Amino acid sequence: MKYVHEFRDPQRAQGILRQIEAIAAQFPPGSPGSSASDRPLRIMEICGGHTHAIFKYGLADLLPDTVELIHGPGCPVCIMPKGRLDDAITLAQNPQVILTTFGDVLRVPGSSQSLLQAKAQGADIRVVYSPLDALQIAIAHPDREVVFFAIGFETTAPSTALTVLQAAAQGVSNFSLFCNHVLVVPALEALLNQPDLQLDGFIGPGHVSMVIGARPYRVIAERYGKPVVVSGFEPVDILQSLWMVLDQLVTGRCTVENQYSRLVAEDGNAVALGAIAQVFTVREQFEWRGLGEIPASGLRIHPDYAQFDAEVKFSLPHPHVDDHRACACGDILRGVKKPWECKVFGTACTPDSPLGACMVSSEGACAAYYNYGQLDRRRPATSSASLAPSHSSRVRR
Ligand code: SF4
Repeated sequence: MKYVHEFRDPQRAQGILRQIEAIAAQFPPGSPGSSASDRPLRIMEICGGHTHAIFKYGLADLLPDTVELIHGPGCPVCIMPKGRLDDAITLAQNPQVILTTFGDVLRVPGSSQSLLQAKAQGADIRVVYSPLDALQIAIAHPDREVVFFAIGFETTAPSTALTVLQAAAQGVSNFSLFCNHVLVVPALEALLNQPDLQLDGFIGPGHVSMVIGARPYRVIAERYGKPVVVSGFEPVDILQSLWMVLDQLVTGRCTVENQYSRLVAEDGNAVALGAIAQVFTVREQFEWRGLGEIPASGLRIHPDYAQFDAEVKFSLPHPHVDDHRACACGDILRGVKKPWECKVFGTACTPDSPLGACMVSSEGACAAYYNYGQLDRRRPATSSASLAPSHSSRVRR
């Protein structure tokens, strides 16, 4: 299959791994002049899709000890704060409302229950595969208010925006969005402004970048001095991107490079960006789970489309709710802790009984470690070095 098989080719992967080992050997811990003088080189993969692929193919186990992959805050389900989930549950409990959303978010715990539990208690909550499905439900039920609980980075924002434009064109008045779309670059800047985070470079998210392009990451390279390589999702993509980051570090360069040029253009997708610009406006602040309030990091509906804004149509409390005391999701999302360092990982918190969002989402770091058998990374790894996908009996989706 074109553009798939060649990016899963074990021989290519082995060749890149040898190059990674050669570069990493130039950065031994303690080496003078190394950016990682007393620790491994720490490269963050921002996107939860990359985290999932890294575990699926056992890539982290193939790397030399002097290179460490850090899992970033790029899973939109994981970063949704409890207060926003409580708002969604409040909406769903309104007997006039049909709440529609993607399935991943149903089991994320709010402060006292999840959307799934609210549904079991009678709330009319329906899983959809696109916002257009939600619009069709609104057209089919003119006597009810249909709200789409919209989440996601710039990847999904265009389809939400185009749905609002379609609702406006069709004059659908019983459809609205509870908009929770977020922006990736402000989140990276918030991470880089944290004093306890030691990162040497980034593997940039492929799907977001198909929309925004590679250019917006220049601020990360120019202002913060961290290389960024936009990456595809196959194992050879990820290894090549890692090698490109390391090559920048070893040669003293710092820029944005695009490994995923087969799908990502420098300036992104003009049609998608145009739809976002028409329908949304940037919020002054948005709360992220684990990262707190981040300036200019979320989208809300532009006043021109206020009739489709659930936050205008309905009264929502917008509570701030702290995470469960035992939950380390915030530290996982900032990359300062690994899942197995959370006290309840794999015991009180499992995919069947999640305490935190990182265990619910298929893109969450805790779910990735759990589903691929890495309950304790100090144990021998279970994945093979052959790049065959690693399947655990715990894999559920
Ligand atoms: S194991 Fe559960 S509670 Fe702990 S950080 Fe992960 S999702 Fe949160």
